[in-house]
Amino acid sequence: MNLDVEIRKYALQNAIKFSGRANPGAVIGKLLSTNPELKTKIKDIAKQVNKIIKEISKLSLEEQTSQLQELAPELLEKKKKESKKELPKLKNAENGKVITRIPPEPSKYAHIGHAMSFLINYLYAKKYNGKCLLKFEDTNPEKCTKEFADAMEEDIIGYLGIKPDKIIYISDDMDYMIQKAEELIKKNKAYVCFCDREKMQDLRHKGKECECRAHSAEKNTEEWDNMKNRKHKEGKAVLRLKGNMESDNHVMRDPVLFRINYTGHFRQKNKYCVWPMYDFENPVEDCKYEVTHIMRSSEFGKMRNELQNFIKELFGWEKQTITHYGRININGSISSGREIRKLIEEGKVSGWDDPSLVTLKALKRRGIVKEALYELVHQVGMSLAPTNIDWTVLSTINRHILDPEVNRYFFIQEPIKIQIKNSPEQKLKLKQHPDFPERGTRIFKTHDRFYIEKKDYNDFKDNSLNRLMDCLNFTKEKKGFAFHSTEYGKFKDKGKKIIHWLPVSDNLTNVEIRMPDNEIIKGLGESNLNDLKQGEIIQFQRFGFCRLDKKNKDKLEFWFTHK
Ligand SMILES: [Zn+2]
Repeated sequence: MNLDVEIRKYALQNAIKFSGRANPGAVIGKLLSTNPELKTKIKDIAKQVNKIIKEISKLSLEEQTSQLQELAPELLEKKKKESKKELPKLKNAENGKVITRIPPEPSKYAHIGHAMSFLINYLYAKKYNGKCLLKFEDTNPEKCTKEFADAMEEDIIGYLGIKPDKIIYISDDMDYMIQKAEELIKKNKAYVCFCDREKMQDLRHKGKECECRAHSAEKNTEEWDNMKNRKHKEGKAVLRLKGNMESDNHVMRDPVLFRINYTGHFRQKNKYCVWPMYDFENPVEDCKYEVTHIMRSSEFGKMRNELQNFIKELFGWEKQTITHYGRININGSISSGREIRKLIEEGKVSGWDDPSLVTLKALKRRGIVKEALYELVHQVGMSLAPTNIDWTVLSTINRHILDPEVNRYFFIQEPIKIQIKNSPEQKLKLKQHPDFPERGTRIFKTHDRFYIEKKDYNDFKDNSLNRLMDCLNFTKEKKGFAFHSTEYGKFKDKGKKIIHWLPVSDNLTNVEIRMPDNEIIKGLGESNLNDLKQGEIIQFQRFGFCRLDKKNKDKLEFWFTHK
C-alpha cells in the first residue's frame, strides 16, 4: 500500500464532500477503519495527513474532483436525486377541489419574490389536483401596460412553466364589478363621497363620519351614474364603503371602493372611467371564480383581510382559506420596481434584465433554471417570517441541478501561447461530461503548441511537472516547456498542477462572458462551442456555468451564471 496515495484519496473525497476543505479527523478515521494496522503509527500519519490536506486545499473543487476521478473514481459520490420536500398541508384542502390564483399587477417586471408567490399558489393547486388561475390585476389604468402584462405572461408561462387553467384580466370583468358596486349602493352599504382628501384623512383619523354618508340610496345612485357618465372630474368624487368609522382597524373606516380615472386603459381603452380599488376587486373576483385558497405574503397584513372578508359577508359569499408566508428577499438585491426604474433612467443598469438584478428576465438570461426556483419554494417558501437569503443559496441549488445536466467546454481567458518541446501529435477525445460518457466526446487535434491562461502561466515554478488536463504532462524548465509523458499513472501521485488548454488552431472561437457586474471577460473557446444553440447553458471548466446569450459571426456572447 502506498500510504501517500491512500491518504490523498480520502482527503480528496472528504474535501469534495465539504466544498473543498477536508477535515483531518475525518480523514484519519477513514484511513484507520480501512487500514487498522496503522493505529500504531498515528502520530506520523497525522502529520502526513495535515501536509496533504494543506496541499489539496490549494486546488479548486474541480481540480480535486478530477484528481480523485483518476486516483479512486469509486470514491466519487454519484449525485443522488434528493427527495423533494413536500409542501406543508393546506387547511381545508380537498383533493380535486382546490382553486388558487396568481394575482400579478402588470405594472412592473416580476422578480424572484413574485416568482415565489406565483409558484406557491401554483404548486398547491397541483398538490391537490386542483386549478390555478392567472388573474391580472389591471385596474390601475395609469400604471398597467400591455408591455408589462405580456412580459409577466412570458415569465409565468414561458419561464416558470406554470400552466394556468384560465387567464383572467380583471378589467374584462368591469361590468360585473360595477354591477356589484351598484348592489352595495342599493343596499345602502356604499355612498358617493365628495369630501377632499385632507378632510377625509382627518375624519378617518378622528373616527368621524362625513355628511355624504347620510345621503339616500337614490341620491347615491344618481351621483354614481354621474361618476360613470363623466360628469365629475378626477378626484372630485369617490365611492366609499360604509364600514365602521370607529373601528380599531383603520382600513375599515369607510375605505374607497371606486375612483374616477380618465386615463385610457391598455385593454379597455376609454370604455370605463370608474375603477375599483384593490380591496374591492379582490374579494369580488376571488368569489366570482370560486377560489378556495389564497396564499399571501405576510406583509399583506391581517387588517386588509378583515376588510375583504367584510365585503364578502355583505354579498353573502363563502370565504377563502387564507395562508400567509414570509416574503423572500435576496440580500443586497434591488427588487422594487420604482428603484429599478430609477436606475434604468440614470443609466446605472442596462434594463430590466440587467445581470445585477433579480428580475425573472435577468435570472433567465443568466441561466437560473426554473427548477431551481421550484426547489427554493420547497426549501424556504412557506416559512412565515420574511426570509433573507444570500445569492449563494440560489446559486447552490441551481448548480446542483445544472452540474449533471450540462456539458463541459474549454475556455481560456487571457490566452498565452506556449510551445512544448517534443510533444507528439495526438487526436484526443474528451468527454462532454465526465460522469456521462454516453453523451459523447469532443475531438481535439493537438501537437506542440497550446493556449493556456495567463494566470496558470505565471504560476509555473521552474523544474515543475505539470499537466494539460487529459492531454499530456510537461515540465517547466528555465527556458521553456518540455514534453514529459502522456502516462497519467506516475503523475497522479504527485498532486501537481492540472490546467486546461486549447490547441493553437484556426478554428477556435472568440468568447465574451458578461459578468453580474457587467464586466466583459474575453478569451478563446474550443471550436465545439459553435454547435451550441442560443439559450443553452454549459460549464466552462475551471471557470463556471454560463448561458449562451447571442451567437455572432465573429464571437459568442455568454452571460455568467455562477461558479
Ligand atoms: Zn364625504
